[in-house]
Amino acid sequence: MNKSTNYKRLKTDEFIDEIIVKQIPRLKTSGMSGDEWRTSARITMKRKGQTVFETQYLSMEIALAFLPGLFIEVCEMPPEDFYERWNKGTRNTECMQPGCSNQATHEFRIKHQYHDGVEQPEHEGFEYRVRFCAVHAERGDSDYNDRSENLELLSGDSKLIGQIPPDDISQAQAYYVDLTNDE
Ligand SMILES: [Zn+2]
Repeated sequence: MNKSTNYKRLKTDEFIDEIIVKQIPRLKTSGMSGDEWRTSARITMKRKGQTVFETQYLSMEIALAFLPGLFIEVCEMPPEDFYERWNKGTRNTECMQPGCSNQATHEFRIKHQYHDGVEQPEHEGFEYRVRFCAVHAERGDSDYNDRSENLELLSGDSKLIGQIPPDDISQAQAYYVDLTNDE
């Protein structure tokens, strides 16, 4: 029996990964009151370099006031035409690391599914996969689901995995709280 292949977005995938808010000048012409430059503010929301949603407001201030609600709305319910394109087209050809728009070069089978740290029973007939570019094919060892040990490489050059640009690496922040009371 052929298994149905599923690609599940990572839990850090917020859908929209880029927002541009831009003031747009426009010359308003009028024979009655004269010509003048007006401005409006355009919000552009993108996912992996593709425009998902665009809208315009009278000013930057108004655009920014609407932005938080609009972000949630678009992430929860992207416009149908985009969703259609995304599903049929490039959805599964790009790296699944949120914030990366590279084409995926490495495909993996997820060995086990975990929920709250507990291994879930196999779903017969279903296979869960992820795809990444060479940089993001290294998944670390922290998360239950999303870690290198839980992935089986199906395609892509294993020798290219793990070459991460130094600028993309950050040390975890450590906070020291002094609990001694010297008062
Ligand atoms: Zn990537």
